[in-house]
Amino acid sequence: MKYISTRGQAPELTFEEAMLTGLARDGGLYLPAEIPVMTQDEIAALAGLPYEEIAFRVMWPYVSGSFGEDEFKEIIARAYEGFGHDARAPLKQLNENHFLLELFHGPTLAFKDFAMQLIGQLFQVALNRRGDRVTIVGATSGDTGSAAIEAFRGLDAVDVFILFPHGRVSEVQRRQMTTPADSNVHALAVDGDFDDCQAALKDMFNDFEFRDGVKLAGVNSINFARVLAQIVYYFSAAVSLGAPHRKVSFTVPTGNFGDIFAGYLAKRMGLPIDRLVVATNQNDILHRCLSGEGYFKGDTIPSISPSMDIQVSSNFERALYYAYGEDGRAVAQLMDELKNGGFNVSQGAMEALRESFDSGRASEDETLETIKSTLDHSAELVCPHTAVGIKVAEEYRAADVPMITLATAHPAKFPAAVEKASDMHPPLPSRMSDLYERPERVTRIANDLGALEDHIKRHIAE
Ligand SMILES: *Cc1c(COP(=O)(O)O)cnc(C)c1O
Repeated sequence: MKYISTRGQAPELTFEEAMLTGLARDGGLYLPAEIPVMTQDEIAALAGLPYEEIAFRVMWPYVSGSFGEDEFKEIIARAYEGFGHDARAPLKQLNENHFLLELFHGPTLAFKDFAMQLIGQLFQVALNRRGDRVTIVGATSGDTGSAAIEAFRGLDAVDVFILFPHGRVSEVQRRQMTTPADSNVHALAVDGDFDDCQAALKDMFNDFEFRDGVKLAGVNSINFARVLAQIVYYFSAAVSLGAPHRKVSFTVPTGNFGDIFAGYLAKRMGLPIDRLVVATNQNDILHRCLSGEGYFKGDTIPSISPSMDIQVSSNFERALYYAYGEDGRAVAQLMDELKNGGFNVSQGAMEALRESFDSGRASEDETLETIKSTLDHSAELVCPHTAVGIKVAEEYRAADVPMITLATAHPAKFPAAVEKASDMHPPLPSRMSDLYERPERVTRIANDLGALEDHIKRHIAE
């Protein structure tokens, strides 16, 4: 499989090259040149298989050519062996046709482990084969950073630097990033918000001298390998509810549009998905855009679902690429307009987006109410991001199609909001119960490209 850029001006790469590169050199995001399609029989045959086997069959067409069959099976096995649940992504029933897909049984208790654990193993195999090393820099609104650190800690071919907005991640999230003792792990608390961290990261990638000098690699949700890993659980969940013989819908708590874009690819691969519902918190640029109001940045307002406090959704560019008929030039132009505040989506592209996506938003009060009502009616304690999803999902629930809401984090990652809503304290799983006693290691740093690049250069291993 070859990979192409959403802006049409970067060279085609293999899967391995696209994975090691992250962002394309024309500023675009990599996508497979063609989306592989599974037949209805191939999808039906996934029923009852272990998660790892489903993962292999769904992802294989995307990676063949870069990895061997047995090699890739071993990578998948290692990626998910540390999960705290044999099903990896179990389904729970909330009411007659609304289900929760629990994606928080990985090492950092959020869905990002699904992609990051796989990427860690993929990088290790690819870099060892090349005798190479890289510097991974990630920007996080909370969950990506800890997931990246867990995936790469202790690997000698990699240094990991994680930029997070100082004071704007939960204490559990912060501690998960600042307590690993491995010398290749560097947590940086940036004086700014998540969009600042993400912008700094983009600028580093566009500074080719720095990028080549430190062998910069990205594992943010722009990395196609991450999107790829997330396609798998759409298949495992849909098949366990009767696909391909029955349609299902998904509601996805959304920030950077990576997770729901994986659902879009699953649909294009042949999985009978009826609706893909984008659920946002009060930072609702995606909901406004899908409601026909154009894609215009607002200020990011901190919320109780901080991993979705995002005004510019980097992966939305991928959806726009398909909505604009795979026209890289049109996408490049929109992204130029975005630098000046935003753009209107053409009528044709709007129709294409609406064919697959619906959207809704939940206010802070609605999020708290949903945590409470979910506990009262379904005996489930959910995290605030998941609650945003449940609230919006109920608006779109239809009698004849099961709705699956993605439960993106464990409630214990966001204890303050959960406790405020429910009067219940969500305990950490026992394997993490000493998190609050472990010493922290973090560098506070200005929101300044020069200072960040300098720090990174001085702290990578020789
Ligand atoms: C990252 C994250 C999201 C948003 O996912 P995107 O792929 O950025 O849309 C939602 N919930 C939680 C808990 C997250 O960590």
